[in-house]
Amino acid sequence: SSPLLQVEEVSKRFRVQGRELHAVEKVSFQLDAGKTMGLVGESGSGKSTLGRLVLRLLDANEGRIVFNGQDITKLSPKQMRPLRRDMQIIFQDPQASMSPRMTIGAAIEDAMAIHNIGTKAERQKRVDELLERVGLSTVVKYAFPHELSGGQLQRVGIARALSLNPKLVICDEPISALDVSIQVQVIQLLQELQKDFNLTYIFISHNLAVVEYLSDQVAVLYLGEVVEQGPAEELFANPTHPYTQVLLQSILKMPEDADKRQALTSIQGEIPSPFNPPSGCTFHPRCPFATDVCRQKKPERKLVGSQHSVTCHLAN
Ligand code: SF4
Ligand code: MG
Repeated sequence: SSPLLQVEEVSKRFRVQGRELHAVEKVSFQLDAGKTMGLVGESGSGKSTLGRLVLRLLDANEGRIVFNGQDITKLSPKQMRPLRRDMQIIFQDPQASMSPRMTIGAAIEDAMAIHNIGTKAERQKRVDELLERVGLSTVVKYAFPHELSGGQLQRVGIARALSLNPKLVICDEPISALDVSIQVQVIQLLQELQKDFNLTYIFISHNLAVVEYLSDQVAVLYLGEVVEQGPAEELFANPTHPYTQVLLQSILKMPEDADKRQALTSIQGEIPSPFNPPSGCTFHPRCPFATDVCRQKKPERKLVGSQHSVTCHLAN
């Protein structure tokens, strides 16, 4: 069977005040139905932009996006419309995408009405089912967004996405704004729903621990480029790019070698300006292992496992 989603060499550049910003640079991956792709990186690494390119909320400058066997890269908004319900997005801040004057029930029903799903009575019945399915009381349908907690609102956001029976759901930092105890509940809910409805997820997060827990495939992004990519198990067992290793510090998966561990702990600096990316390997100003070749020459992607690739001069 062919993958549900194929992203091929997709690039996105923005022009801002006459300057060019490479937001996403030649990203490729494939994702099978029912699986999760984790996209990790700091803010500004291009992961949200990549999510929007996949959904065709933004147009890529280069590359191809194939969804469910169909090349959607050049479809017009009108041609995209019937596909919209198959591809949904869950945001970090669900309230931002909800009208403050619409009740929760109306907001979920509205999502279905826009796509001509069912009669009004059928949609209202479905609102109740969906609220229960995401662990909320059906009385929530009479509430307004400001009356719910962040965790409840995120469940509503999930219910709204689910109301359309999507195939692909992009989860863009869906738990980052929630308390830790609530984060776990929402993660478990997303997992259950994936199983029950064979959902395919792109899970965007800066939290590598959550990505490790949820993902089948992982891509680590830095300044719009994938620096390491592969099956989650393989990548987490053998994190090879220094940036991945830095990110992994936070979940205490450090290299065995004590010197290497010390070098990674002392990493300095912020993510550089995407308008003026560093020469050679764009990670070199922050990389404890950088050498002259790193400052001069852009590393090429190398396979370090059957499907595990790393873009670093040190990889072999
Ligand atoms: Fe560090 Fe050089 Fe590898 Fe870039 S190519 S991550 S600077 S070692
Ligand atoms: Mg983002």
